[in-house]
Amino acid sequence: VAAFPFLGDGSGAVPNNQRVRADPRELDGRRFDAVVVGGGIHGAALAREIALRRGNVLLVERDDFGSGTSMRSSRLVHGGIRYLEQGRLGLVYEALHERERLLRLAPHLVRPLPMLMPFFRDGGKSPFLLRVGLRVYTLLAGRSRLPRPSFHGPADCARLFPGLRAAGLTGGALFFDAATVDLRLCLAVMRAAAGAGALLCNHAELIGIDGDRVRIRDRVWDVEVAVRAAAVFNAAGPHLDEVRRRLGIEGAPLVRWSRGSHLVLPPVEHETALGAFLPDGRIQFVIPHEGGVLCGTTERDEAVGDGAPTVPEEDAEYLLSSLSWLLAPAPERGDVRFAYAGWRALPVGSGPLGKVSREAMVVVERGPAGPVHTIVGGKLTTHRALAERAVNRWLRRRDPSPSRTEALPGGAGPQEPADPLWRRHGSLAAEVRALAAADPELIEPVSPGYGFLAAEAAYAVAREGAVTLTDLALRRLHRTCGPALDEATLARLLELLGRHRPPGLPPLDAAAEVAQLREEVRRMAGPFGDAIASPGSARGAAAPGESRRRA
Ligand SMILES: Cc1cc2nc3c(=O)[nH]c(=O)nc-3n(C[C@H](O)[C@H](O)[C@H](O)COP(=O)(O)OP(=O)(O)OC[C@H]3O[C@@H](n4cnc5c(N)ncnc54)[C@H](O)[C@@H]3O)c2cc1C
Repeated sequence: VAAFPFLGDGSGAVPNNQRVRADPRELDGRRFDAVVVGGGIHGAALAREIALRRGNVLLVERDDFGSGTSMRSSRLVHGGIRYLEQGRLGLVYEALHERERLLRLAPHLVRPLPMLMPFFRDGGKSPFLLRVGLRVYTLLAGRSRLPRPSFHGPADCARLFPGLRAAGLTGGALFFDAATVDLRLCLAVMRAAAGAGALLCNHAELIGIDGDRVRIRDRVWDVEVAVRAAAVFNAAGPHLDEVRRRLGIEGAPLVRWSRGSHLVLPPVEHETALGAFLPDGRIQFVIPHEGGVLCGTTERDEAVGDGAPTVPEEDAEYLLSSLSWLLAPAPERGDVRFAYAGWRALPVGSGPLGKVSREAMVVVERGPAGPVHTIVGGKLTTHRALAERAVNRWLRRRDPSPSRTEALPGGAGPQEPADPLWRRHGSLAAEVRALAAADPELIEPVSPGYGFLAAEAAYAVAREGAVTLTDLALRRLHRTCGPALDEATLARLLELLGRHRPPGLPPLDAAAEVAQLREEVRRMAGPFGDAIASPGSARGAAAPGESRRRA
C-alpha cells in the first residue's frame, strides 16, 4: 500500500485490535488526518478505508456502533431488482459485484439466499417483465458464484415456500441474492477499521466546533475533548444535516427521510425467501433468518425527530395486510415476535419516495474547521465501494483499495457453517473459545435456553466495544426475534458486563441499565413494544425457539 500523504500528527495508523473502543481521555488536543462522524456501516467503512491507506483516523459514534439505520435494514446484500425498473443499471451493477465480494470476503456473515418471486393473477407486475428483469439482473452480475434463476409452476412454488397463498398463484421465479445480519456486518467492518489502526469511540458525540477544533463529548468517561482534523467525514446518516450545522455549515438540507418498518414472525424450517410484488407495486420481502422471519418493508416520508425511529400502527397494519395477501394462513398480530423501523437518508428531492435514487453522493463543503465530506444515501451492500470512492476522491487517487481483496475479520480460514459460533464470529470463534478455555465458567450459556455462551458476552465487552447492557443484549448478542429480557439473563449479562469493562469506570447502575434496554426495545417495536418489553413478558424470554438453519 502506498503511504498516505502526511496530514496528521505523524503517528500514522497503528494496529489497534485489542479493545475496539479507544480511550477518549487520550485524545484531547491530538491532530488527525480525518475524523469520521457516525458509526454505522458507512462510517465504519470510511474509517477502515482511511486506516488501510495508513491515515490517522478517529471515528466517533454518539450511541453504539450500528445503532442507527445499519441495524434496521432488510438485511439483504443485493443488487436490488426493483432499481432496474428505474433504469439504475450502474447502481445494480456495482451492488451485484459488491455482493459477490462480500460472499467471498465475509462468508460467515453473508450467505446465499434463494428468493422466490411468485406470480399471481392479481399480482403487481407482469410476469413477462419480471422474467426480462431477472435476465438483465443475471447478466449484470457477470460470473457469479450463485446459481442462475429457474422458473417453476405453482406446485413447485408451494413446496419451495410452504404457506404461500395458492389461490391465483400461476408460478414463480427462483433466483439467488444474499442475506446478512446488518449489525454484525457493521461490527465486522468496525473491527477491520480498528485492526487497520483506526481509533473508534462509541457513546461519543460530535457536539460542535471551537475554532479549528472539533468538540466531542464522551458519555462513558464523561469528558469533553477537542481534536483537529485535516478533514471531517460526515457519515451521520439521517442526522447528517444536523452534523453539518454543528460543523458550522449553513447550506440547504441535503437529506430527505423515508421510514421503513419490519415485522419479525416465528422461525420456519426452510431457507427460501419471498420477494413478491404487491398490487400497489411495492415489493414485500419475507426472509427466513435464524430465530425469526423478517417481513418488510414500508416507505413513508417522515421528519426525523429526536431519539430513534419506531414502528407506527399504520406500518404494522400495512405489513399485516400485505402479508395476508401473500400468505395463507395470514399471520396475525399475536404472531409478531419483534418489530423495528429505520430511516433511509435519501438525497433531497421531490416526487414519490420509491423513485428517489438509492445511489450515494459525496458532498464536499468547507466549514470553519476545515473540509467536510458528507455521505448522502447509499446501501448496506455498497458501503465498501462508496468509502473507497470517497477516500480516493479526497486523496485524488485512483488506485484500487486493499479492501477489495482483504477478508473482513473472521472471514478467512476454513468454513464451518454448522457451527453457530462460526456463523457469528467466523474464524474469530477461536478467540471466543480461548476466552472460555481460560475461564471454564464462560463455557456455559449465559442462561438456560439462551443461544449465546457467557464467553461471547465477555468477548463482546472485552473486544467488540460493548459498553452498556443495551449494547450487549440488543446489539452484540443479536437475535432476529429481539433480545432476551428475562430477569435471569439480564442479571447474568450485567454481571459479565461489570466484570469485563475497562477498569476505573463508575459502577453500573443495574436498574437504570435494564430500564434503558426495555425502553429502547419498547420504542423499536412500536405497537408491539409493551407486550415484548414489559417485565415478565413471555415474549422476551431467553428460549428463542431458533430454527435450525441448514448449513
Ligand atoms: C427500512 C430499510 C431497509 C433497508 N434495507 C436494505 C437492504 O436490504 N440492503 C441494503 O443494502 N441496504 C438497505 N438499506 C439501506 C442501509 O440500511 C443504509 O444505507 C445504511 O445502513 C446507512 O448506513 P449509515 O452508516 O449511512 O447510517 P446509520 O447506520 O444511520 O449511521 C449513522 C450514525 O451516525 C450517528 N450520529 C448521528 N449524529 C451524530 C453525532 N453528532 N456524533 C456522532 N455520531 C452521530 C448515529 O447515531 C448513527 O449510528 C435499508 C434501509 C432502510 C431504512
